[in-house]
Amino acid sequence: GPGLVAQAPPPAAKEAPVDCIFCRIVAGKAPSKKVYEDQYVLAFWDIRPRAKVHLLVIPKQHVASLKELDELPVETRAALLSACVRVAKDQGILDKGFRVITNAGKDASQSVFHLHFHVVGGEQLREDAI
Ligand code: C5P
Repeated sequence: GPGLVAQAPPPAAKEAPVDCIFCRIVAGKAPSKKVYEDQYVLAFWDIRPRAKVHLLVIPKQHVASLKELDELPVETRAALLSACVRVAKDQGILDKGFRVITNAGKDASQSVFHLHFHVVGGEQLREDAI
């Protein structure tokens, strides 16, 4: 009878993973030092800054890394890079120079699996640091 029919698993969650710290920041459920926000992206200070300026720019929509970039709407992809330049300008590091980095996957030592761009500067950065 119907009681024996196996329950179909729920469809794969498309919403923000509840355990993603950056989704929690986007949702306002975890604190952050925000510097910029629009409908597509959020930018905030890295919790452990490794330069005088060390910001993170993330899409509000969850994707794990740059590997999944094509899952994002083209508007979001554009907004991510534009926001990197904007926050660098707002921090006053546009003219002296800055670096934008994203770590994707194991070899890059990615530690938070929600796409983010590090925007670093405000001091002379090491030439040999990738
Ligand atoms: O590129 P990667 O995944 O290693 O970078 C994660 C970054 O997120 C780290 O620089 C870490 O300090 C930062 N972070 C943060 N707030 C958290 C957790 C991690 O700013 N709650």
